[in-house]
Amino acid sequence: SIMPATLSAISNGARHGILFKGGVHLENLGNLKAIALDKTGTLTKGKPEVTDVIIREDITAEEFLFHVGSIEGYSNHPLATAIVRYAKAAISKELIRPEAMEDIPGYGVQARVGGVQWKVGKADFVGRKDAEEFQGGMALSLSAEGKTIVYARDEKGIAGILTLKDQVRAETISAIEALRKEGIYTVMLTGDGEKTAKAIAAESHMNEYIAQCLPETKVHEVKRLKERFGTVAMVGDGINDAPALATASVGIAMGEGTDVALETADVVLMKNDLPRIAEAVKLSKKMNKII
Ligand code: ADP
Ligand code: MG
Repeated sequence: SIMPATLSAISNGARHGILFKGGVHLENLGNLKAIALDKTGTLTKGKPEVTDVIIREDITAEEFLFHVGSIEGYSNHPLATAIVRYAKAAISKELIRPEAMEDIPGYGVQARVGGVQWKVGKADFVGRKDAEEFQGGMALSLSAEGKTIVYARDEKGIAGILTLKDQVRAETISAIEALRKEGIYTVMLTGDGEKTAKAIAAESHMNEYIAQCLPETKVHEVKRLKERFGTVAMVGDGINDAPALATASVGIAMGEGTDVALETADVVLMKNDLPRIAEAVKLSKKMNKII
């Protein structure tokens, strides 16, 4: 049964934009020792924009964006949405629907256009060595600026890259600092590359970051944190975060996240409001003392 102190704390929480699916989750937050947070859509706004396009000498920008835009039209990934928007604005040709399209979550998209096989996605998807050697290692220096790199490969090798920049939310740093003040260790988990992850983790004041995470890597890292710290929360917004949300002692979803994340989570931040987490931790500590 729910204690009166818990009940009033839950309704207090709901009024302040944080929803608990049961009193036990609010109680658990008072014992929180570590928190894992997804990068894209959680620490950042999740609305990336294309900033640079760099192509091989034997292809025109028009042809490159036509192919990559058409292929990404098949994916719902935030990076794909941004690339399609950019391509449509930049070229005069209409995008088409390619053949044999395949969306590989956590990696990218592949398809055939005009009989040529293309792959669009991260370095490990298109071939890490070729990706890193493209135009003298240009991608690595761009990713150190916190930009995400999308590589496009045709049958001759890397045809070009696009860089995308997503913004860290205005309230992220204060939210992370407030958690730290409560003695909570912070870890960023992301599917993005090493250099990009490092830059965003530093900008967000995280204690630690793990890059190149697949959904199962996020689960593994949450389990590892539980062994190391005890009570651990996970905050995320995507389908790829749902297994880790379910694994954490407290799963917290961003209110504007995907349905799967909202359904799996124990706690929902109604307005994507990260500072509410530390406030709930404080409230819970107070409440646990009363009980
Ligand atoms: P995150 O954990 O940052 O939300 P994801 O697990 O969704 O990221 O994807 C991991 C990485 O895979 C992305 O950073 C990107 O490099 C690549 N990727 C996935 N889907 C696509 C796509 N449709 N187009 C381009 N790249 C993609
Ligand atoms: Mg995300």
